[in-house]
Amino acid sequence: MNYFSSNFKLGILGGGQLGKMLLNDTRKFDIYTCVLDASNEAPCKIASNEFHLGDLMDYDAVYNFGKQVDVLTFEIENVNVDALEALEKEGVKVYPASQTLRTIQNKARQKLFYRDNNLPTSPFTRFAYTSEVKEAIEHGSLTIPFVWKSAQFGYDGQGVKIVKSVSDLEGLPNVECIAEELVPFKNELAVIVARTPSGESKNFPVVEMEFHPEANQVEYVICPARIPEDVAQKAIDVALKTSEAFNHVGLLAVEMFQTQNDEILINEVAPRPHNSGHQSIEASYTSQFEQHLRAILNLPLGRTDSKVGGVMVNLVGSEGYSGNVVYENISNIMGLDGVTPHIYGKKQTRPFRKMGHVTIVDQDINMARKIAEEVKSTIKVISE
Ligand code: ADP
Repeated sequence: MNYFSSNFKLGILGGGQLGKMLLNDTRKFDIYTCVLDASNEAPCKIASNEFHLGDLMDYDAVYNFGKQVDVLTFEIENVNVDALEALEKEGVKVYPASQTLRTIQNKARQKLFYRDNNLPTSPFTRFAYTSEVKEAIEHGSLTIPFVWKSAQFGYDGQGVKIVKSVSDLEGLPNVECIAEELVPFKNELAVIVARTPSGESKNFPVVEMEFHPEANQVEYVICPARIPEDVAQKAIDVALKTSEAFNHVGLLAVEMFQTQNDEILINEVAPRPHNSGHQSIEASYTSQFEQHLRAILNLPLGRTDSKVGGVMVNLVGSEGYSGNVVYENISNIMGLDGVTPHIYGKKQTRPFRKMGHVTIVDQDINMARKIAEEVKSTIKVISE
């Protein structure tokens, strides 16, 4: 198949920042793209060849869009999987596969998958409704503390609650959920694995993720993770095994906990480019976005080692500001060594909305981490 400057059409479901960064690479290769998103202001709108407006959860919207392309991928998990399955049956190449997405979309099903495939994850119980969690505590079959997770539609820490007393359950939606053992982890790690339809796999280095304590959202990503070699190797082995178990095609970001005993437990996976790989744009020989394209198009995978240490800091909307976005002090941080800002192009800010990120490269990873803190405290994402 000739993808370059040809009639080939790549469809992308979702028009957010991940799609926008993927489009830098389709532009680089001159691969024709069609993007479907529900918002006329989606970051992808200006960079795709064709922009289609439609609801990603709507069967007809996804099916009709998919019929017009040769390979279909997605940059967001919340899409209509029945439509993907129908398209696969009719010969459209959907990568990653609908079956994988169906498993991942539901956290209870995802955890069962790990259990069934002997992949390490923390113990959990599934509940049809949150109200049953309360009953389980009363009957003594569930003990506090634990982590409550909505089975569906959670993202960026929405739909996750650490329950330390029964009152923490108040106000949670009465939906299908899991109660997961609270892991007192040393570190949160991630490994992105790329796999082609022919089964070639390559992993990016292990990264360390530092989370914002209130927002439950990644604040800094540090590549490489500052952990012992044998622990890093263990994390890589788990990630490769996970990608293999899904028979995955495309990128799979595997988020893991490093426990106090240096065991590795899978937290969750994302079958797409991921926040934990953004630093690869500046710091790696091949960015995660280029690698995703190579993987889903069955092209040879690129080098995944880093040219330099990289730290990524997310730019999220400041608390107390909603409305038309204004970025303050971007030019100041560009005066710091090795600093590159990425602005996603979302018009409206709100507290903790991901509006952009900044990559800091340095031979010394601790220096990069220090500059990242300066970046974080200097840039302000506010409203007019
Ligand atoms: P999301 O799908 O919204 O990203 P996650 O399942 O990754 O949600 O949880 C968000 C964050 O909550 C994690 O990155 C971690 O900091 C914390 N967390 C999740 N599960 C556990 C757990 N079992 N033990 C301790 N902390 C957890």
